[in-house]
Amino acid sequence: MTVDVLAIDGGSPVRPAGRPLPAVTEPTGRTLGAEEEAAVLRVLRSGMLSGVWGSEVPALTTEFAQLVGARHAVACTSGTAALHLAVAVVDPDPGDEIIVPPISDMGTVAPVIAQNAVPVFADVEPGTGNLDPSSVAALIGPRTRAVIAVHLFGKPAAVEELRAITDRAGITLIEDCAQAYLARVRPHDPDGPLVGTVGQLGCFSLQQYKHITTGDGGLVTTDDPELARRMRRFADKGWPRESGERAYLSFALNYRMTELVAAVAREQLRKLPGVVARRRACAADATKRLAGLDGLTLPPDDGDHVYWYYPLLVDGLSRSGMARYAAALTAEGVPSVAGYLSRPLYAEPVLREARTYGSSGFPLRGRATYPDGLCPVAEDLLYRRLVVVPWNENYTAADVDDIVAAIAKVHAEVMPS
Ligand SMILES: *Cc1c(COP(=O)(O)O)cnc(C)c1O
Repeated sequence: MTVDVLAIDGGSPVRPAGRPLPAVTEPTGRTLGAEEEAAVLRVLRSGMLSGVWGSEVPALTTEFAQLVGARHAVACTSGTAALHLAVAVVDPDPGDEIIVPPISDMGTVAPVIAQNAVPVFADVEPGTGNLDPSSVAALIGPRTRAVIAVHLFGKPAAVEELRAITDRAGITLIEDCAQAYLARVRPHDPDGPLVGTVGQLGCFSLQQYKHITTGDGGLVTTDDPELARRMRRFADKGWPRESGERAYLSFALNYRMTELVAAVAREQLRKLPGVVARRRACAADATKRLAGLDGLTLPPDDGDHVYWYYPLLVDGLSRSGMARYAAALTAEGVPSVAGYLSRPLYAEPVLREARTYGSSGFPLRGRATYPDGLCPVAEDLLYRRLVVVPWNENYTAADVDDIVAAIAKVHAEVMPS
């Protein structure tokens, strides 16, 4: 049997270097066009750039809530800020606990520490990297105040099951939807609820790499008008604008979205259903054509995945084997990442070494230890199984051809049949 020489070993790449795939850091991989240009000019010419008095931020929150199927939405400056608003209105006492997954952006966890609560890491499901509800249930104790579920790579977490668990415990479910715009939570139910509406709070990001972008920006959805009001206040220095009084009612920061950002976000929002549909169509094509490769598990799609990334699970790899697999794909012209993260979030210095407030280590030191092996399923995924392929709404059929060819080529070398 002849196997094509991999580009990493000096062979010719599936995708020549002069013809990169559309990427989220380039105009070719984004949906920023004449509509966004006009929106920016509209705001500039209005003379009003602040969302406090402008019309774009209120319009964005109305439109976003409607699209997602929530009663209210609150705008802010980033996905991390959105999660901070959510944790702030849970209002934990110092030292209370919030359950989080180990595979996510640090933006999921930093707000917990910012509100002086202790992140407690539950393990994940081996097929998706999403929170395992039984691991969550086992960790709920007298000080647990909330669970944050991430819909990793665009695949919905088991949020209805998690909501039943959090309701029973009398605590809050926060959904981190930064990677999962418009994903439906029930398998094969096109009328089921969207992510961000099952928990009491749903957090979204408009950062450069997400499905839609304003560079940075964030949104939170909720059905509860009181939570929405308190989040608006937390994003605005505690100032109760609706009262007309200059007052500062509680500790809060300034996380206000500007009119320029909101105007661009509104245009991006109009394009979002198309972005999701195109990402899904390309992924379905790739999955159909890659099916059956020995030792390769493709992203599980029950009609619910919105493909922020296209995650591959490869059997039988060592840590260096996984790194080589991703490097080989990258050399073929499909820039892939081994493991997605360098390590589970709990192994990052901020948590493991409690680098928080001065030398205090508060609220982690003496309360939480984050040893290796804390979440074995997550570690197996990150260290031995997971290779993430970037996904994009602007992939053409020829781009998908190349991605499929590159994966098949690399897989055949790494895992000869
Ligand atoms: C991107 C991301 C965040 C943080 O969003 P920012 O806008 O970068 O602050 C949080 N959680 C997840 C799952 C993300 O992907």
